[in-house]
Amino acid sequence: MNKHCLFCKIIAGEIPADTLYEDDEFLAFRDISPQAPVHFLVIPKKHIAGPAFMEEEDEQLIGKMMRVGAQLAKDLELVDGFRMVFNNGAAAGQTVFHIHLHVLGGRQMQWPPG
Ligand code: AMP
Ligand code: ZN
Repeated sequence: MNKHCLFCKIIAGEIPADTLYEDDEFLAFRDISPQAPVHFLVIPKKHIAGPAFMEEEDEQLIGKMMRVGAQLAKDLELVDGFRMVFNNGAAAGQTVFHIHLHVLGGRQMQWPPG
C-alpha cells in the first residue's frame, strides 16, 4: 500500500470502482474514461510503479495478471479480439504509477497506436 497511490486507494476501498473481478492478488475494474466500448484495467494488489519497476520475483504475478485479463475479455465476449496495453513513463502516457494492464475491445483497433 502506497498512501499516495490512486490505485492502492481503490484496492483499499477508499475510492470506489466498477469492479469486474477480485482475488487475493488482483483487482479488475472498468476504466473511468473508456477508450473503447469495453475498457478495463487489471492491477496487482502489490504496488509496483510500472513495468520498469518490476523485479524478477514479479514475473509470475504479472504473467498471471495477463491471464486474468484474457479470461475477463472472454467473459465479456470480446470474441473478435482485444488489445492489451501497458504504458510505462509519462512519454508513453502513463498517468497512474501503479502497474496496470489496459484491456480494450468492442471496436476495430488501429495500428500504430497514437
Ligand atoms: P495510464 O494512462 O496508462 O496510466 O492509465 C491510467 C488509467 O486509469 C486511465 O485510462 C484513466 O482513465 C484510468 N483511471 C484514472 N482514475 C480512475 C478511477 N478512479 N477509476 C477507474 N479508472 C481510472
Ligand atoms: Zn499503488
